[in-house]
Amino acid sequence: MTKDEVRNRLLFYQDLGVKTIYRRTPAPNPQQPETRNQEPATSHQPPETRNQKPETAPPPPAPSNQPPATSPQQPATPSPQPRSAAAELIVLPLAPVHDNLAKISEDIGDCKRCRLHEGRTRIVFGSGNDQARLVFVGEGPGADEDAQGLPFVGRAGQLLTQMIEGTAQKEGIPLKRPDVYICNVVKCRPPENRTPQPDEMEICGQFLFRQLEAIRPKAICALGSTAAKAILGTKDGVMRLRGKWLQWRDIPVIVTYHPSYLLRPYNQNAKKEAWDDLKKVLHYVYD
Ligand code: URA
Repeated sequence: MTKDEVRNRLLFYQDLGVKTIYRRTPAPNPQQPETRNQEPATSHQPPETRNQKPETAPPPPAPSNQPPATSPQQPATPSPQPRSAAAELIVLPLAPVHDNLAKISEDIGDCKRCRLHEGRTRIVFGSGNDQARLVFVGEGPGADEDAQGLPFVGRAGQLLTQMIEGTAQKEGIPLKRPDVYICNVVKCRPPENRTPQPDEMEICGQFLFRQLEAIRPKAICALGSTAAKAILGTKDGVMRLRGKWLQWRDIPVIVTYHPSYLLRPYNQNAKKEAWDDLKKVLHYVYD
């Protein structure tokens, strides 16, 4: 197979939602027993961790503005097993090396990988600073976003802008919306603004993860339970998750309420909590 054929094959599997693949190394030659020092450097790398479960080892939460520890959730490197006839497995990451937002957008192309393409006007890839220290992730485009091809430009978006800029200003942090990066779990508008379905999240989530890896922000803010589910792989809702430091790979994550939820008149109590969550993440990132 040529390099391009291998790459296309990997992309095909990636589109199917496969996150990593494994290649077997040849079994060791029994005539020449190897010592541990001869092991290839890659052979005991931990597998790529897609979604860190929040329970595993959350970074220290208090006091509130303390930066979360960013490394303890790396899975422990497995201790070397004695090499027998069993071949070793090497993990091949599917995201291209030196990935960047332009490349990801190009790979999305005129996407028809799931049913959401049928009703979309425009793909909503994301907007903001591609070197942002903070990334906000929402659920999926609504009508305004679908029409403009930009995330969070409708009513919920205006509230999000106010939340970001208002909180930053109050806290003495010189930050405007274009300084952060904003995107969604799914890039096409679900019909009637319904919640994205698991297969849609899985397919589009691969691109979200590539965006997050390409930007490598200092922290991620998940807006609402769909974003939390996609990023953390948890079934817990926002009420349980909000306000705590969690982690995606080695990047700290804060979950807070989706701005659309805060727009409903009967959810006004949640506003204060959302502002607290935002304060916490802004101080961690920009202090
Ligand atoms: N809601 C979202 O989750 N994303 C948007 O871009 C707009 C509204």
